[in-house]
Amino acid sequence: MLGQMQDWPLRVSRIIDHAARYHAGRAIVSRDGDGVVRRATWAGVRDGALKAAQALTRLGLRRGDRVGVMAWNTARHLELWYGVPGAGGVTHSLNPRLFADQLVYIVNHAEDRFLVYDADLEGVVAAIAPRLETVEAFVRIGETDAPRIDALSYDALRDAEDADFAWVEGDEGEACGVCYTSGTTGDPKGVVYSHRSNVLHAMAMIQPDMLGLSSRDVLMPVVPLFHANGWSTAFSAPMAGAGMAMPGRNLTPPALFEMLEQGVTITAAVPAVWLGLLDHLRREGLRFSTLNRVVIGGSACPRAVIEAFQRDYGVTVLHAWGMTETSPLGSFASLKPEVAALPPEARLDVQCKVGHPPFTVDLDLRDDFGEPVAWNGESRGRLVIRGPGVLKRYLKAERDATDGAGWFDTGDVATMDALGYVRIVDRTKDLIKSGGEWISSIDLENVAVAHPDVAEAAAVAVAHAQWGERPVLVVAPKPGAAPTRAALLAHMGRHFAPWQLPDDVLFVENLPHTATGKLSKLTLRRQLEAQGYRLPSA
Ligand code: AMP
Repeated sequence: MLGQMQDWPLRVSRIIDHAARYHAGRAIVSRDGDGVVRRATWAGVRDGALKAAQALTRLGLRRGDRVGVMAWNTARHLELWYGVPGAGGVTHSLNPRLFADQLVYIVNHAEDRFLVYDADLEGVVAAIAPRLETVEAFVRIGETDAPRIDALSYDALRDAEDADFAWVEGDEGEACGVCYTSGTTGDPKGVVYSHRSNVLHAMAMIQPDMLGLSSRDVLMPVVPLFHANGWSTAFSAPMAGAGMAMPGRNLTPPALFEMLEQGVTITAAVPAVWLGLLDHLRREGLRFSTLNRVVIGGSACPRAVIEAFQRDYGVTVLHAWGMTETSPLGSFASLKPEVAALPPEARLDVQCKVGHPPFTVDLDLRDDFGEPVAWNGESRGRLVIRGPGVLKRYLKAERDATDGAGWFDTGDVATMDALGYVRIVDRTKDLIKSGGEWISSIDLENVAVAHPDVAEAAAVAVAHAQWGERPVLVVAPKPGAAPTRAALLAHMGRHFAPWQLPDDVLFVENLPHTATGKLSKLTLRRQLEAQGYRLPSA
């Protein structure tokens, strides 16, 4: 025997143990369910997590049981984030904005035995409760004036315990959490993260070229923990010994700004959130005191947003790409030295891409025949991914979702350049095929929102007798602005060839969004259809 290193299963309980032991007093600022901002610490969160684990075990939780958690980003939610897997359970994060039918489907499909929820979501839970086939007990966090469910009190359960509990140990490959894909086509699919995949993914995320997280940071996830594994924020921050700010349910720009001013250095959300916040900052003439970087992902980040953060507020934008199936983060547009040396405009071009992957993520491009596509920044292919934090098989699926070489097809069309920077061209199904040529809906939208009167824009394909498909642009103007079709087309004409320009420009007050805050092209297509547009067949 040459000697041996220790067995040390990569379980997420070790993350919270580390934070509580070596960064015990770091502040966790939380806007709780009652709207009050309170301060906790990693030591306190661990204590609460141990008690939550103890209480769940007393209720009968067994190893591998799924626990539905429908809660906003608060310190209590962090306790459950570690309490459930610490008790051997599997957290099933539930998005309260899903349609009732979808919630019923995923809770039944995952076979959740317990459902823990924030008191203000009583109505959402009550509406689905009679159709939940496997839930044995409901647990309410906080108080409600109008109880509609016979639920146990989370605080009472937790406070009855003494934290004298040992985390359930086991194989690092055991399930830790489940998140369902948004299911824009067909039923939602469950992605099961293991302890190991969460630990490795968080280790990759805190690296300097990714979140670049340290004990000097305070991370505020605006992205809800129920969206795509919470972008790993609740694992990455304690692993790095960083503090956290948890904004609760109130995500209006003034409330977010107030939380950002609690010492936050880095924050993360989808672009729509930042469009609203930037607008608020401008109107009120506000400045950040501590924020220095912002992670933007989930859908394409408009160039105008990156520019505004960096030029007007001195905040570095980290444009990121990922998906529920990839834990979720796959790449960050941080600056390699070759890019840092570029002039500002060229650097901005690179930041509009979604960046390069960390160690543990492998990315590549494939053509329609499964052959590799050149990394020349021009050639488009299907983006494929593999790694220890990438899905192999959906919950209860009969078959692997990967090809023979372990690659998972993301459904995104992308280019890669010689430095490995990825540019997302479009979702495969959102590309617009006009006269045999592809038009990227993302490109059209990005240029449209760069117009000063445009708040948000969406481009979709409609059927056309001669060209097959043609783009239609739907625009939500900024409050008080009234852009004209001619002005918009003139603005876009500076960036696109005439055949790429939308045939129609429609103005609406608001664009439809999915439960995770992305543009809902599915709903938009239905709305266009109702207005008499013909959609391309499949
Ligand atoms: P979800 O699993 O719901 O988070 O959706 C994942 C999908 O969101 C990806 O496959 C992309 O199509 C899209 N997406 C995520 N981040 C970006 C980004 N930075 N730019 C463009 N599309 C993105």
